[in-house]
Amino acid sequence: MADYLTLAQPGIAGLSPYQPGKPVEELERELGIQNIIKLASNENPLGPSPQVVAALKAAAPELARYPDGSGFMLKERLKTLLGIDPARLTLGNGSNDLLELLARVFLGPGLEAIVSEHAFVVYPLATLAVGAQLKVIPAKNYAQDLPATLDALGPSTRMVFIANPNNPTGAWVTGSQLRPFLDQVPEEVIVVLDEAYFEYATVQDYPDGLALLDAYPNLVVTRTFSKAYGLAGLRVGYAASNPEIADLLNRIRQPFNVNALALAGALAALDDQAHMKETVSMNQQGMEYLTTELGRMGLSFIPSAGNFLTIGFGREATPIYEALLHLGVIVRPIGVYGLPQHLRVTVGTMEENTRFIACLQQALGSGQQS
Ligand code: PMP
Repeated sequence: MADYLTLAQPGIAGLSPYQPGKPVEELERELGIQNIIKLASNENPLGPSPQVVAALKAAAPELARYPDGSGFMLKERLKTLLGIDPARLTLGNGSNDLLELLARVFLGPGLEAIVSEHAFVVYPLATLAVGAQLKVIPAKNYAQDLPATLDALGPSTRMVFIANPNNPTGAWVTGSQLRPFLDQVPEEVIVVLDEAYFEYATVQDYPDGLALLDAYPNLVVTRTFSKAYGLAGLRVGYAASNPEIADLLNRIRQPFNVNALALAGALAALDDQAHMKETVSMNQQGMEYLTTELGRMGLSFIPSAGNFLTIGFGREATPIYEALLHLGVIVRPIGVYGLPQHLRVTVGTMEENTRFIACLQQALGSGQQS
């Protein structure tokens, strides 16, 4: 057999596949236990809006037809809701799709993207896959250090990724930090502001990327229906940018990159703002509960603007992760993010949060005995 590794594009051989959260069914199979809760993938614990489910059923008989490749209706609805010109929008098969399209449009061999330490793993994947270089800036208190990012810009820097808030740390940059940064980044450097958790972010001075687009032609904001809208399984997201960048992204995307059900589901999700708001308010209560309980247990955590919390244990976290699995609770180990002593837990329903805390106490208790 040929050595296919050596035949792969430079940059691809060094990648490892994305490690998703452990599926419930897999743990059921492995341990033969029932009543498992998964708090490992930042999914919406309320599920999708019932209006979305109805819209998907209504759209099903038309599945023999190709979707609207321009996503006209969805873009119009985003315009109504967010006041954004559809010419600025690009739709994606999840926001991951858009991150990859951005890398394909702007990066390549000889060019460089800058990311923060602990940043969402798809940025390095998308960058390296197109043969570009990656520069990683040390984080400051687990957050992206924007002044250090500015200092790191060089002649070959073509893109900077900023996750706001970042996954898996939950750390965010404020408007007062972001605007001076954007003021100093040359227009030739594309700043990708990933707002996957935008709707959850109720912290003070949290910037709305869309409001910055007019001032910064090099800014691209990505958002998703996977989180607060509860549609992770449908795969739909959008990028907002200046129309010229949107035109470039639209040139290379697959003509039907967002499928018909995803388009119908996203439209219905936008129409049920009450469901999204209920999700956000449940998240706030859950976050409050978790942080209070963790504080009571003497555990440290990274303050988070998302729907997840990263807990530090001050020692290797894998045994705690495994003890939790045996108790039927799936959380996320984040050693691949350079945080082997932390675990990330998604905020769930109150019942799930209570169970998580009880199981964590048990897991830590049993860990100390062994
Ligand atoms: N950005 C961040 C920071 C994320 O955490 C995620 C989901 N894990 C995404 C982007 C991608 O989400 P999706 O492709 O489902 O829109």
